[in-house]
Amino acid sequence: MLVCTGFAAPDAKSPLAPWSFTRRDVGAFDVEIDILFCGVCHSDLHYARNEWQFTVYPAVPGHEIVGRVRSVGKDVTKYKTGDLVGVGCLVDSCRTCPSCREGLEQYCDAGMQGGTYGGTDKVTGEPTRGGYADKIVVDENYVLRIPENLDPAAAAPLLCAGITLYSPLRHWGAGPSKKVGIIGLGGLGHMGVKLAHAMGAETVLFTTSPSKVADGKKLGAHDVVISKHPEEMARHTNSFDLIIDTVSATHDLSPYFALLKRDATMVQVGAPEKPLPIAVFPLLLKRASFAGSAIGGIAETQEMLDFCDAHGITADIEMIPIQKINEAYERMLKSDVKYRFCIDMASLKG
Ligand SMILES: [Zn+2]
Ligand SMILES: [Zn+2]
Repeated sequence: MLVCTGFAAPDAKSPLAPWSFTRRDVGAFDVEIDILFCGVCHSDLHYARNEWQFTVYPAVPGHEIVGRVRSVGKDVTKYKTGDLVGVGCLVDSCRTCPSCREGLEQYCDAGMQGGTYGGTDKVTGEPTRGGYADKIVVDENYVLRIPENLDPAAAAPLLCAGITLYSPLRHWGAGPSKKVGIIGLGGLGHMGVKLAHAMGAETVLFTTSPSKVADGKKLGAHDVVISKHPEEMARHTNSFDLIIDTVSATHDLSPYFALLKRDATMVQVGAPEKPLPIAVFPLLLKRASFAGSAIGGIAETQEMLDFCDAHGITADIEMIPIQKINEAYERMLKSDVKYRFCIDMASLKG
């Protein structure tokens, strides 16, 4: 077994702390990666605190991983020692169900067994452990190539936050002559604004904070709407082809349904803990769809990274040493970050 060091939550109530653990040895098709950076996703916090009720402790979160290949198994063909690579939310999937065969591994019939954390390692039967660690072993088919031109730390959040927005933008046809709304300016929303703008869509940011108007415009929004001002909302009635909601707090969606065009779609990527009450009438009256979307498949994640390379897009990050992770979680809960924390894994040795 491969001995690793990292930070883990020992239980749902305690702060994350240093922990030494093992991963599987490098198999024939495996890539061993020295982790350089790991983005801090809101899911990490949910998982560390068992808010989704499936955490196995000690729990090592982290699924926005960028690093360099340290070694490869004997049958690996895609990567070699020294390559700059990434690992997102998936390290495996069943590989045989219809979704897996279509390259949509995120919708695998077997569920999230292949999750980077919270899944099960097929070789050892142990829980999978994420990127708050010095190294990780991943099957080459679930490893992404990080373009060398991108800042590797700022590229890390692309692997979850980036693909979570890129996939629905592509699926629902964001591009020139389309009008796209992004609700919420956090880790997810700021990627949505950058990506929709780069795809050529007319991009509108919805936020509740007037303090975010200037930032939204700087990130590429053509307009920023304060969603609690009805007269500002009314200016956009019946005009959107697509609205993506990144907010995970419970909030009223009906004012947004009124902004959709006929046959348009509102997509939920933020996941409120409690069921949302949905007013159906506004949907009926314009044949609108209310949809959900989760991360993206491996092929689409690579496509997104290459798109970001071509357009010079990365996340806006605040770098932290891993010793500050608990403080970062508290600040994340207050949305006190622009817009994603990223752990500098060199701090593990410090
Ligand atoms: Zn995530
Ligand atoms: Zn599958």
